[in-house]
Amino acid sequence: MLTGKPLGKRIKKTSIAIIMVITLILELSGCTRSPLVWFQDKGKNGVSAVQSVGVQGSRSDEENKKEQDKKDTVKQEETASDDAPVPMNPPQPDPPQTPIRPFYELSGTPPMAPGLAMRNRVFSEEPSKVVYLTLDDGPSPNTPQILQILKNESIHATFFVIGRQVEKYPEYLKQEKAEGNAIGNHTYSHNYAEIYQSPQAYLANIKKNEDLIYSLVGIRPPIIRAPGGTQGHFHVSYYNTLDAAGYLVYDWNVSTGDAAAAVVPTDQLVRNVMSQVPGKDRVIMLMHDAPGKTTTVEALPRIIQYLKKEGYTFGILRPEVAPILFPGGFRS
Ligand SMILES: [Zn+2]
Repeated sequence: MLTGKPLGKRIKKTSIAIIMVITLILELSGCTRSPLVWFQDKGKNGVSAVQSVGVQGSRSDEENKKEQDKKDTVKQEETASDDAPVPMNPPQPDPPQTPIRPFYELSGTPPMAPGLAMRNRVFSEEPSKVVYLTLDDGPSPNTPQILQILKNESIHATFFVIGRQVEKYPEYLKQEKAEGNAIGNHTYSHNYAEIYQSPQAYLANIKKNEDLIYSLVGIRPPIIRAPGGTQGHFHVSYYNTLDAAGYLVYDWNVSTGDAAAAVVPTDQLVRNVMSQVPGKDRVIMLMHDAPGKTTTVEALPRIIQYLKKEGYTFGILRPEVAPILFPGGFRS
């Protein structure tokens, strides 16, 4: 006799079991999706979406960086083709007290001293031994004699004139220019208290003298000599101001010493020159065309003879001639 559960109940249980097994098989074969699997997928997609954003984000940053690098390279190439190329690695500033001289002399070298923003300049080739005679503080009663000596020797010099003296002797300025000498600007007043107040005061004094020179001989000299020289007077702002206005500043590397006393003996002036010239390929010589400097006039022919004997060529200063500046001329 049959015992246990009724047949109907057993069939029902078996059916449920079969359905479950079929469902399981279908799930494993991937033919269907249970709510649980969908959720997991959603979760998986969610994570991968976040990861994807992350990857896309970092990839995007990389691309941005690459693009920026590309732009920078283009920019550098464009800059490199400019007239004044900016070096890939900008030079480190030199310490204070660095002489300004190299910035004038090494054409094509960007300024390196702190605060110095001078333009690059290209200077002419020079003979192997060249001298530039410079006469400051004129014109004066000595000017005609000096001009005659230069004429006799068939050479020229550079006259750094003072405005106040030009007003006294305008004809001498005209003669200097007419005979082929160079005119330089030595300020209008030559008054230290006035001109060394500030770069602006200095420039104004230069301009005043320049207007005067222009009214007489029709030129605006771009070459300047600082009264007393640059050392102890100029700091970086003076160089920047004058450079921006288109001027060049010239000190000297040989001095006759004619300003050391009211009257320096002629022999002493010649000896001073002979002791300083040897070993110098290029000489910018200081002397004075000033009232009372009669020994300078006397020494001049002897100095010229000495320089000729030593094989020097005589030149006049112009913007194409590299200035000589005192090493201590630059102060920041
Ligand atoms: Zn002077």
